[in-house]
Amino acid sequence: MSVLEVRNLTVEFGQRGGAKFRAVDGLSFGLAEGQTLALVGESGSGKSTVVRALSQLVRRRSGEILLDGKPAGRRGSALRAYRHKVQLVFQDPFASLNPMHTVRHHLVRPLSLRQGHVRGPAMESAVHDLLRSVNLTPPEEIAGKHPHELSGGQRQRVAIARALATDPDVLLADEPVSMLDVSIRLEILNLLDRLKRDRRLALLYVTHDLATARHFSSEIMVMYKGEIVERGPSDEVILHPSHPYTQILANAAPDPTATRESLAAAREQRQSARAARTAEHREVAIGTGCRFRTRCTFAMDICAQHPEDIEVGPGHVARCWLYSGAADAAAVP
Ligand code: SF4
Repeated sequence: MSVLEVRNLTVEFGQRGGAKFRAVDGLSFGLAEGQTLALVGESGSGKSTVVRALSQLVRRRSGEILLDGKPAGRRGSALRAYRHKVQLVFQDPFASLNPMHTVRHHLVRPLSLRQGHVRGPAMESAVHDLLRSVNLTPPEEIAGKHPHELSGGQRQRVAIARALATDPDVLLADEPVSMLDVSIRLEILNLLDRLKRDRRLALLYVTHDLATARHFSSEIMVMYKGEIVERGPSDEVILHPSHPYTQILANAAPDPTATRESLAAAREQRQSARAARTAEHREVAIGTGCRFRTRCTFAMDICAQHPEDIEVGPGHVARCWLYSGAADAAAVP
């Protein structure tokens, strides 16, 4: 059973002139204990809004969020209880920590929410245990430091420790390594993976990077302009990307075996794909039809209608007319 279940989540923001911008449109998924689900997309796709809506930092227009089968509390103590169980790790560890306070201070507050009666040496010991759990040692020394005395990777470990302090069931990791040095990204992702296994966490890993999504998650959802355009088991989605948008993301992902020649060929391919986006495509208004059609080199007349999810493999669906009987088979990439 899913620890966290999201049904038809829709988030809208007001715009100048009274118009509404739909940042998330009808998102549904389930997240089970011990599972990592990756939400992948470029910036502006709406994935961070999903995280903020799941943390209830932004109001949803419609849809349901269920935690352990019960509707998520929306205010007062019910909301606080929900937030203890559904914790967020932010993208920027420096901005998420208060520069005026020590590491100890950052951890004592959430720890006392969970174990209010604990004080003195018992609290200090709980702080040290948390720091050890994210490999920050010696904890006695780290606890007294301020954020500016730590490296970026250490700061993100403190942010993860703080998220764990309330003993959550669900961790929402919003681009947790994108602001860190390449050299320590893998360490932090491995840490999250270990914590997920040790604590049986349900982990939503939000990223723009398909390669790490494949490595660290069992399932991938690809988001474009507020909707999921492809989802399925990670290997399926990466080895057989079906939606033209996923294919672009997959082509853009760094390939460790790439040679200078293959990189040049891929660059040329991308340039010709860009050139193929005709003025007609660019002028198509978003609102009805496939949202990707202004960028899609395979766009057809039928793409002016909104596509449905179509099964393209075991447990693997793509929201694209190319895979329906309506499309000309010759157009399938
Ligand atoms: Fe391209 Fe049409 Fe598929 Fe949209 S539905 S991705 S425009 S082929």
